[in-house]
Parts: sequence; structure tokens; C-alpha cells
Amino acid sequence: ESRWWIMNQKELEQLVIKNKSYCSEGQNAHYIPALAKVNPNQLGITLYNIKTRDMLSAGESSVKFAIESISKVPALLLAIEDNGLSNVLNHINTEATGFSFNSPLNMEINHDKHPLNPFVNIGAIETTSLIQGSSPDDCYSRLLSFIKEICHDNTISLNEEIYQSEAKTGDINRSLAYYLKGNNMLSKEVEGVLEVYFKQCSLNVTTENIAMMASVLANKGIKPWDNKRLISEESATLVKSVMTTAGLYDESGEFSAHVGIPGKSGVGGGLMGVSPNQFGIGVFSPPLDKSGNSLAGVRLLKDVVTKLHLNIFD
Ligand code: GLN
Repeated sequence: ESRWWIMNQKELEQLVIKNKSYCSEGQNAHYIPALAKVNPNQLGITLYNIKTRDMLSAGESSVKFAIESISKVPALLLAIEDNGLSNVLNHINTEATGFSFNSPLNMEINHDKHPLNPFVNIGAIETTSLIQGSSPDDCYSRLLSFIKEICHDNTISLNEEIYQSEAKTGDINRSLAYYLKGNNMLSKEVEGVLEVYFKQCSLNVTTENIAMMASVLANKGIKPWDNKRLISEESATLVKSVMTTAGLYDESGEFSAHVGIPGKSGVGGGLMGVSPNQFGIGVFSPPLDKSGNSLAGVRLLKDVVTKLHLNIFD
């Protein structure tokens, strides 16, 4: 507990200032105009302490941004709650990949023709298809409720502009979904699954929301703010482990080696970090590096992890 006080508000703000110049070294995701036009000069962070329930934020921590691939985490958690862990793992592997997030190779090289992991797009689309519901609308509303609960925020809602462009420009995702379907890996209709997937990616969140979600994983599946269990400990453990090997796509190895906590990124510039038994961390900065991870965000998270001695491999 004393570790918390190694960093105060001012020190966190200083780390934000120190890393802010990296905003000019990356580029916003440009595949859809709605992401390209977001102000690139933003860097924000929230830490949530699971023991003291204190929240510490600096920079643009209440700015809303598109959750994008960070949504693959709650989608996986809900798919596991719905089907059981072993059934989900019958469909999707937990292997690292050196390919970019939307590459079809994330399945092809695997001898059993299952997606390599749930955090590359082809595995995430498969994961979303496993969420139960009587219709795509029902699946989406169940996932949205779950995300509101795990982020402890009832106001989380869809960014309609992002959703429309994701759906309109999602040809690669569409091809990945058809590829799954053609290999008998998708038990539902492609367009319905994609509707849920594009919507889950288009939810507006803040670093506070992301820190709360991370804190449930850090706290073994129990929501720190009300001490109620939301997901099984087994599921929290598995997801943290997959985040460690695959949370930052083809940069996951580097992130593990140099930052050293379970992480998950999104092309909206969000980054989630989990410090087991200590903190949930949310970071936001729109410009991305070549792998699609927040450039300033990764550097800021590294500084925080170093300062608080959170590296899980230490
Ligand atoms: N909506 C994006 C996509 O599917 C999410 C990808 C990401 O955040 N890496 O292409």
C-alpha cells in the first residue's frame, strides 16, 4: 500500500508532460476519417488503486475516445462467462503472433485453422460470435451492459459516426469473417456478427473507464468498488496472460520486455494496463506507432510502471 504514495498527482502530471512530445512522432489511425481527425496532441492517464480505491488522473483523462480493440477484452470475458473457458478455447488459441492485427495469417499458419488468439481481429470476430443472444441486437446490448458494468459507468454509449465508418470501410474485417465462416468456424451470419463487432469497437470511453475495467482484472475478477465478483478468477487470470503475450499485436513481445505488465491497446489511442493485485491503468493518446499502438501512451505507461515498480517479471 505504501507504494501508492511513491507517486502523487504532481509526479503523474510531470510524467504526462515529459511524454507529451511523443504525440508528434506517431500518426492517428487514418483508415476512417472519424479517427484521423481526433486532436493528436492529447495524452491522459488514470490509475485506480484496488486496495485504497483511490483514483489518480492526469492529462486528458476525461476525454472520450473510441475503445476499438480494447473492447476485445470484455468481449472475451463475456464469451467465457457465456460458454465456459474450455469451450471458448476450443475455438480460439492463445498463441502469440508476429503478424499485424488484421492479417489473415493470424489463422492460416495455424495447423488446426483456429484463430491464433482472441486479440487479433480474426480471433476477436470469432470471440464476438460466441456471445450469446437471440439476435445481433441482443448480443450487442448484452455486451454493452457488461462493458458498462466492468467500467463502472452507465453512460457509456455508441459513437455513431465511428460505427458508420467502421461498418462502411470494414472490408478486411468482412473478409476475415467470411474466411472464418468458410472454414466452419462461425456459427452465425457474418453480417450480424460484424454488426456487433463494429459496434463494440465504436463505444466511447475515457481513461477512467479503462482503469476501472483493468482494476477488475487486477483484483482477480472482483469489482474493487463494491467487492462483488463479476467474472471468475480463472477467466481473469487467463485474460491477463493472453494480454501479456498478445495484447499489443506484433509488438506484444517488445511491450512485455520493456513495460512488463499485461496490456491491451486500441487504434483509438487507448491503452489498458493491469498491475495484478495493485492497479488498473487507463491511458489515452491518439497517435499510433507502426503496429497500431499508442506511441506516447506506451511510453507514459512504461514510466509509470518503472516508477511504481510494477513490472510483473521483477
Ligand atoms: N475497429 C478496428 C478494426 O477492427 C479495431 C482494430 C484495433 O483497434 N486494432 O480494424
